[in-house]
Amino acid sequence: MRATLMYGAGDVRVEDVPDPVLREPTDAVVRVLRSCICGSDLWPYGSMPPSEHGSRMGHEFLGVVEDTGPDVPGLGRGDLVIAPFVWSDGTCDFCRQGLQTSCRHGGLWGGDLDGGQGEAARVPQAPGTLVKIPAGVDEALLPSLLTLSDVFCTGHHAAATAGVSPRTTVTVVGDGAVGLCAVLAARRLGAERIILMGRHSGRTDLGREFGATDVVAERGAEGLEKVRELTGGDGTHAVLECVGTAQAIATSLGVVRDGGVVSRVGASQYTEVPMDFGTLMRNITLTGGVAPARAYIEELLPDVLDGTIQPGRVFDRTVDLAGVPSGYRAMAGREALKVMIQP
Ligand SMILES: [Zn+2]
Repeated sequence: MRATLMYGAGDVRVEDVPDPVLREPTDAVVRVLRSCICGSDLWPYGSMPPSEHGSRMGHEFLGVVEDTGPDVPGLGRGDLVIAPFVWSDGTCDFCRQGLQTSCRHGGLWGGDLDGGQGEAARVPQAPGTLVKIPAGVDEALLPSLLTLSDVFCTGHHAAATAGVSPRTTVTVVGDGAVGLCAVLAARRLGAERIILMGRHSGRTDLGREFGATDVVAERGAEGLEKVRELTGGDGTHAVLECVGTAQAIATSLGVVRDGGVVSRVGASQYTEVPMDFGTLMRNITLTGGVAPARAYIEELLPDVLDGTIQPGRVFDRTVDLAGVPSGYRAMAGREALKVMIQP
């Protein structure tokens, strides 16, 4: 089959790889219907040292079950399934706690295993990992269903861990796909005041449609001042940091209200957070982390199926497998917000 490999910074290739086969009784083989490129794929795309063997790419996909091992109850050939971006057994203590990203028998897609950016994938721990979608869904829903694999669940995780509710005001830092999904998730949880910090008007326009009530295009000290101005000098109860840079976390701590919560999601690239004595005196909580997407899919699925939310609108370009390298270029060059792959 054909699949995407990354060989180094800026070096993405689509090549022939072995067809996936069942290896463990709990495996399934899934033919990929839709996949996508993640903002987190752009970090290695910008900095990965050259590799001789390459690394299989992609961790967001949905597809059709082709084959299942003997220990995969409830799933069979032809089932439409979503694969979250971490696979997990669904039975260990962490999984039962709703923290499938820490599963004792789980792992990440890609590397030496199959990734989502290919024609098919072997799915380890299929009973715990895959979520079956009701048969006969409209094909137009596939992009939004695909976002449950990662990006919308990640935005939801930011809002959920920050305790967003109808009583909280919210700032979302970042107008990438995760930031826009965080806006949509905050709105879904009832927030009525959502300030979106981002400077790409095409993206912030979608943010407004997703529920942002204010857009602040300024960055740094200027942006901070603007948010404070909009909130009577106080900042907002919740701040969802969806960029991952040192400037973004500094801004987040600057626009959070005393007693408030900053939640960070996505692949943060900073190693230090300025939680100094001044922050302590303001009683700021720092939370967030990697989203246990598997814990959220069942909860979010009905709103996607009935069209209440359309997170799939973050996809503004679709490529086939041959077009994946151009998709990486487009996202890295900010010509595309998020690229969907239709193998
Ligand atoms: Zn587990």
